[in-house]
Amino acid sequence: MKNKAINCRVCSIKLTASNRNCNTSRCKSCYNDYMREYLKTNKDKHNEVMKKWRAKNKELVHQMNVNLATKKFGSLIKSITHYCKKTRHEVTDGYVRHRLTKHDPLLIAKDIPNDLIELKRKQILLTREIKNYA
Ligand SMILES: [Zn+2]
Repeated sequence: MKNKAINCRVCSIKLTASNRNCNTSRCKSCYNDYMREYLKTNKDKHNEVMKKWRAKNKELVHQMNVNLATKKFGSLIKSITHYCKKTRHEVTDGYVRHRLTKHDPLLIAKDIPNDLIELKRKQILLTREIKNYA
């Protein structure tokens, strides 16, 4: 096995289990600075790498999302309920696209033009107003 560095190669403080960043030879704070700079100059490249990684590790990504939702809301169902209510209340683009495509399996959400979304949003808000007065 390769020997691990003892000191951070940037600020040369002693690396311990708590301040070492995974298997790098930098401390957490130096690694974060390095990544911040790296992402500023290589944003597109990084996004491409992450996109490929997510496509390759779909199961893992799903499990990470489930863990995150469970940690934040207590269960996956509660998390889904929360975001459904939120998007419905705010009439987001995603909600409108869903309303337009849910009855037609041939329609794809990203094919719907933005003008149509604006019109549908107005219709939804108008219908809500009418229901409030009825
Ligand atoms: Zn350091």
